[in-house]
Amino acid sequence: MPPLIFRKGLDMKAAVAGALAEDYHSTLVDRIKQDDYTYTAPGLVLHLAREFGFCYGVDRAVDYAYQARQRFAGRRVFLTGEIIHNPHVNAKLRTSGIRFLSDASESVEALTPDDVVILPAFGVSVGDLERFVSIGCTLVDTTCGSVLNVWKNVTRYARDGFTAVIHGKVHHEETRATASQALTCPGGRYLVVLDRDEAALACDHIRHGGDPAAFLHRFGQAVSEGFDPDRDLQRIGLANQTTMLMSESLEIGEMFRAAMRDRYGEAALPDRYRAFDTICSATQERQDAVIALLDQHELDVMIVVGGYNSSNTCNLANICAERVATYHIAEPACLVSAGEIRYRPVVPHGVPRQKVSEARAAGWLPSRRPVRVGLTAGASTPNNIIGEVVRRMAGFLAEP
Ligand code: SF4
Repeated sequence: MPPLIFRKGLDMKAAVAGALAEDYHSTLVDRIKQDDYTYTAPGLVLHLAREFGFCYGVDRAVDYAYQARQRFAGRRVFLTGEIIHNPHVNAKLRTSGIRFLSDASESVEALTPDDVVILPAFGVSVGDLERFVSIGCTLVDTTCGSVLNVWKNVTRYARDGFTAVIHGKVHHEETRATASQALTCPGGRYLVVLDRDEAALACDHIRHGGDPAAFLHRFGQAVSEGFDPDRDLQRIGLANQTTMLMSESLEIGEMFRAAMRDRYGEAALPDRYRAFDTICSATQERQDAVIALLDQHELDVMIVVGGYNSSNTCNLANICAERVATYHIAEPACLVSAGEIRYRPVVPHGVPRQKVSEARAAGWLPSRRPVRVGLTAGASTPNNIIGEVVRRMAGFLAEP
């Protein structure tokens, strides 16, 4: 029997609507939106970006997880790992009884056909999906449509003999899943580039050739097995993790296009180079909105809320840090006091993220009053967390 796979909800939307509202809604955030995205309190003027927080993909994934828990109340329900990169949401799901296969105490081998497995918004690799299918688990697939769109194009590249060049983070779940799609066709291959520096190295190899061993040493786990840069960079198709910085993805696409043109000539480009925009609209809207916020308001401090491992949140923080003092915080408690904050420092391009740990800063709020604060949040941050950040900030500034 093929396993049961739910991809369009579980007919329990109305049944879980109350719980979702209770866990994630914020009347304060609603009020700020009504007040032209501005909040004023003694000592504080706060401007909220016009697009922020939960995206359509995350909204749907969390909704399906709640539906799954309720529909399969008598069965074990698992997530493969974090459903989205937000500690608050993952903690809520744990409290509801959903278990995480990524925990050391759990294992895929222990799954049975009676179990339910929820696949996260950023998808799982082809290999992982096949394992769950072979066990016969019931699957609740919350993979976002924007991610599926990337997969469709990467699969097409592989089918047509193009190597997928993916702008993304090689250890990110979404990029691993996307790369695995390139291997579903015979001869399919991929290369993952993190940033402009890595793209420049690959472009240099396209233009001038080089030592394949040195290339493979540099790109390590970022290429498919048996990758040969001399053979596999002759026909390439660009794709990206949906949550990357759009300006950088476009630039990297142009870098590869120019390298292919230099190597093979303009006339050969249609046979050698393909690209399509795979930044999802929600990511783009949040990046555009924060740029507009920075353009429109003089700010003393920018607060960006979201999990430290949330790619789109990190990119929002990167954008802000170029213009104003920026603090990327994971939760309201990071605002320790008016004099102290815990935050994740913005990471310059090329520095592996796992090397960055949370920092503390004293004197993060300027002495001027009112303090002018900008606020945004990544696509996996619920409104109640954003509302709590505002409340805490107002509380500090109300103190004499
Ligand atoms: S950030 Fe984009 S791709 Fe990711 S879940 Fe949200 S809408 Fe989907």
